[in-house]
Amino acid sequence: MAGATVKADYYEILQVTKTSSDSEIKTAYRKLAMQFHPDRNPGDHTAEEKFKECSEAYGVLSDPQKRAAYDRYGHDAFGGGRGAPQGGGFPGGFSGDPQDLGDIFGDIFGEMFGGGGGARKGSRAQRGRDLRYDMTLEFEEAVFGKEQDIRIKRSEACDDCNGTGSANGKQPATCSQCRGAGQVRYQQGFFSVARACPKCEGSGVTITDPCKTCHGESRVQREHTITVKVPAGVEDGTRIRYQGEGEAGKLGGPSGDLYVVLSVKAHKFFQRDGDDLHCVVPVSFPQAALGDELEIETLEGSALLKVPEGTQSGKTFRIKSKGVPHLNSHGKGDLIVEVRVQTPGKLSKQQKELLRQLADTMKVDNAPTSHGIMDRVKDIFS
Ligand code: ZN
Repeated sequence: MAGATVKADYYEILQVTKTSSDSEIKTAYRKLAMQFHPDRNPGDHTAEEKFKECSEAYGVLSDPQKRAAYDRYGHDAFGGGRGAPQGGGFPGGFSGDPQDLGDIFGDIFGEMFGGGGGARKGSRAQRGRDLRYDMTLEFEEAVFGKEQDIRIKRSEACDDCNGTGSANGKQPATCSQCRGAGQVRYQQGFFSVARACPKCEGSGVTITDPCKTCHGESRVQREHTITVKVPAGVEDGTRIRYQGEGEAGKLGGPSGDLYVVLSVKAHKFFQRDGDDLHCVVPVSFPQAALGDELEIETLEGSALLKVPEGTQSGKTFRIKSKGVPHLNSHGKGDLIVEVRVQTPGKLSKQQKELLRQLADTMKVDNAPTSHGIMDRVKDIFS
């Protein structure tokens, strides 16, 4: 078509007549589009031009209003036709909107590749967005669980228009740019690429008489209270999903989900390792050497821990079932107590004297050793 000064007649291009019906025009276009489709004629410039020509003709003749205007004014109906800026984006001056080309391409691709139609049929409804709520828990709340009401701001279907976005029960109009397909196709080299229609954002419809309450959005922002049940045994970073409690979908689409994301504060002396708890308990040298019974604070009251005679610093003891409940099952982890022998920093005169007497009775070989030092120290007392 480059350099052509006289535009060919749209009816001639599609090999139909002025009296042809819509379906005859569609059939004719489909036949030609399949014949000249760039995917079928790679590198063939003439075929590409033919394809564009057919698409342009069909773009006008498939639209009753444009067809009427064309019948009356010819190519002048479209501001000189070629080169006029259009939303379609076909390079080379395709002056018709891509409209239901989406559908027809879907059919063509279906036939060409044996699939069930390459184009997504315009689904009006859109799923709502997921929401995230961050909740901070005390250490004990994560261990024992908690129930808390939270208030979230989210979009919900507008009551006044039943989520349609239109006032007075009016139906939304088919989008004029994509003609309800929800997507437009672009010619990119030899490929046609689908993209969500920029005018209706993929919904395929436009609201002509918007609801006063939601301004045509079909949804309104509202506060909503949800009772969050934190089960016992959750960890830092656990996400609780509430299906369908996110933002409402657009035009009747399903709601998104709400995710409550937990962050758990540290405890002043317990540390978690899975469902086990760890803590460190200081003991004096005489307690470790002679043995003792200690009262250990746990998350559920106190527990007795028997430290046997000759306990080395760093030795760990396990107190059964005093840890964190297993999430979603029975039982609990353990409490693991590490005993650390404290060396006194300040001593009275009397204590120093007693220790000197003691020191005279225990001599340790201070030669360096690599491993097994603990065993050797133990030997001294046994
Ligand atoms: Zn509304």
